[in-house]
Amino acid sequence: MRACAGCRKRDENENFIRFVEFEGRPVPDVARKAPGRGFNVCPTFDCIKQFVKRQFKGKVDPKEVYDQTLNAMKEYFLHLLSLSHKTGVTVVGQDNIRELLPEKEGTLILASDLSSRTKERLKRKGNFTVLEDLFTSEEIGNALRKETRAGAVFVEKVGLGRKLHSVAEKINSLLASRPKG
Ligand SMILES: [Zn+2]
Repeated sequence: MRACAGCRKRDENENFIRFVEFEGRPVPDVARKAPGRGFNVCPTFDCIKQFVKRQFKGKVDPKEVYDQTLNAMKEYFLHLLSLSHKTGVTVVGQDNIRELLPEKEGTLILASDLSSRTKERLKRKGNFTVLEDLFTSEEIGNALRKETRAGAVFVEKVGLGRKLHSVAEKINSLLASRPKG
């Protein structure tokens, strides 16, 4: 158990985003592997803001840290998607996803260029964590090393898919707390 460097709430390590300090700035350590003193922060803009104020005394803009963190998490997510696909825990394509059993647990990734009708239909399928509109079908296709685009991918919550699921939840939490303006 660790405490958030923003709100001081205690939680498991894996539920926080880790930051390290580099040249007087907080840098998100998305894989939680960078050496040095780390700070654990809840995946919300409010906690990032409190953490930045406390540790960097007004020298760093919390919105910049938020944007940098979200981008780093998105990049890490695509990396994990690529690795998960190699281990065979992914289901690619609308038709294949529609055939999944409703009790399957995992992450459903829907591309920004998929029609809203298709998205609604796939989301209704099960109790998935949905990551929507963050990537184009071309970006998802590239992560899967496919020649073609991939508009919908399901990643089962096993093995690396478990880690990917946790990153998806943090991204959704960051997005839900997005600063205004
Ligand atoms: Zn917090």
